[in-house]
Amino acid sequence: MNKKQKRMLARIVIAFALMVGLHFAPVSGWARFALYLVPYLVIGYDILIKAAKGIKNRQMFDESFLMAVATVGAIALALYSKSGDYTEAVAVMLFYQVGEWFQSYAVGKSRRSISELMDIRPDYANVERDGVLEKVDPDEVGIGSVIVVQPGEKVPIDGVIIGGASSLNTSALTGESAPRDVKQGDEIISGCINMTGVLKVQTTKEFGESTVSKILDLVENASSRKSKSEDFITKFARIYTPAVCAAALALAFLPPLVRSLGMGLPAEWDTWIYRALTFLVISCPCALVISIPLSFFAGIGGASREGVLVKGSNYLETLSQTKIVVFDKTGTLTKGVFEVNAVHHNEMAKIKLIEYAALVESYSSHPISKSLRRAYGRPIDNSRVAEIKEISGEGVTAKVDGVPVAAGNAKLMTRLGVSYINCHSVGTIIHMAVNGQYAGHIVISDVVKPHANEAIAALKAAGVHKTVMLTGDAKAVADQVAASLGIDQVYAELLPADKVAKVEELLKMKSEKEKLAFTGDGINDAPVLRRADIGIAMGAMGSDAAIEAADVVLMDDDPMKISKAIKISRKCLGIVRQNIVFAIGVKLICLALGALGFANMWLAIFADVGVMILAVLNAIRALFVKNL
Ligand code: ADP
Ligand code: MG
Repeated sequence: MNKKQKRMLARIVIAFALMVGLHFAPVSGWARFALYLVPYLVIGYDILIKAAKGIKNRQMFDESFLMAVATVGAIALALYSKSGDYTEAVAVMLFYQVGEWFQSYAVGKSRRSISELMDIRPDYANVERDGVLEKVDPDEVGIGSVIVVQPGEKVPIDGVIIGGASSLNTSALTGESAPRDVKQGDEIISGCINMTGVLKVQTTKEFGESTVSKILDLVENASSRKSKSEDFITKFARIYTPAVCAAALALAFLPPLVRSLGMGLPAEWDTWIYRALTFLVISCPCALVISIPLSFFAGIGGASREGVLVKGSNYLETLSQTKIVVFDKTGTLTKGVFEVNAVHHNEMAKIKLIEYAALVESYSSHPISKSLRRAYGRPIDNSRVAEIKEISGEGVTAKVDGVPVAAGNAKLMTRLGVSYINCHSVGTIIHMAVNGQYAGHIVISDVVKPHANEAIAALKAAGVHKTVMLTGDAKAVADQVAASLGIDQVYAELLPADKVAKVEELLKMKSEKEKLAFTGDGINDAPVLRRADIGIAMGAMGSDAAIEAADVVLMDDDPMKISKAIKISRKCLGIVRQNIVFAIGVKLICLALGALGFANMWLAIFADVGVMILAVLNAIRALFVKNL
């Protein structure tokens, strides 16, 4: 509980005690009125101020206005009828504030449990200076610095381990509870907790660009993107509140006028004004206004606990309607860690060919490049390479030691006018041209991710009726992967622009209600990620461009999480729908009862606070998604 909530609680307790005490106090007349004003103002002064401000700014149709009018009206009625029953006005205000208090407590609690799981912001980084460790602000650590992470500390910045071995707890990032073992040479991302050994890490990014900063940015901005349901509530409130006020006015004036002027009956003004005031109390749409954003908030929080970052509640809504999932192959369904299977070369020595390959690829971040550099296994002298050109979906050209070298697929060779030899091994073939002459090819192959098979099956079970794979890789490899995973359709040898065109084609073929998700990892996937109804990026291996362009980020690159994300979104949207129906339903029933005179203000406020509490509790369910 924060200070504000504590102060509120004190006001509630004091007002309640005074109200109960006064009920039995043997005073009457103006003294009674003056005494009752104390608990009324203690509990309601801020609402009255808010209502007055609203009237001044001509934005009066809000909850505070409704509450102020209803309670002031009830007091005026009690004065007029000399009943001395001011308890009702105080109680209405009191319960309204109990509801508000509960709501701020619940929101605070779910915010806290999100920030708890988001408790990944590192406070410092250990930098070694002249043999002593110094704690510095992570913001001040430059790229390429060496930092030391002790057991029990958070990894503050993304980097590569240059010394030591340990196991990492990645649960805050990925929802994965099993520790991950790491050793020298492994890449590690910030936000993990180092559990056992001391690690020396060379940073590869600045703090602001590191995983941990990115995630925190995402989560902090997530709630600012509104979903359709939330828009609906805003629009609804804009029409609803004035409509209710008009109805209340009509209820107060029309029946008495009709009775006295038209039917010759006693007007019974106080009965009808009381009913109108009750009507106002009932109409307060608090439950709806609070529980919808809270449900989305909880849904996003629950998802991020499972390692699925959803960048806004609108995406949660789209995700829940996903019926078609399109995948990129390399890095998405496969690990993107290629092994060299064979080297078929001409006169040039095998090692020379791999050396050239590693050199031309020295600047690229494509998984193929990384693998070729690893296969070479020696430090690369960047000064030998110049004029690098990366041709997306084809390969790379550069000058190595002043000689033009090209590495890429058949398309690249055709573009360069180099005749190449077709290879019959199944795998990704990297053709090499040196000085305009064909020099041979390197056969590399990738493996599918461990859960890829189950992931596709889980998607089908979750109601996705079409899975499609798009890849720039050769047809033979693509067909083999798709068949082994049970993917419905495959399109291979696509350039990045072709991927966009294919997705557009698929978008045209489906109905408006079915949404299409694209899942990818590479820089070249960014346009498609934007174009799809919903873009899902691999967060750990994926390129920054892809993560930026995506609407949903899977922190641990596990394709299983796609169906999980869909299930989480469905649960959340289900809760939103339940709350809308429940809150509006109860409201309508109570409004009818109020207008007919079957409900008094007590019932009205109980119904309202009750509905709100139930709706908020229901909203919080969206946070619990572990076992979906
Ligand atoms: P995917 O769609 O499967 O992720 P890409 O579009 O990234 O694949 O690449 C398609 C093909 O283009 C690769 O299979 C490879 O043959 C070639 N290619 C792309 N980038 C490179 C590179 N840096 N070096 C060599 N070949 C590359
Ligand atoms: Mg890829």
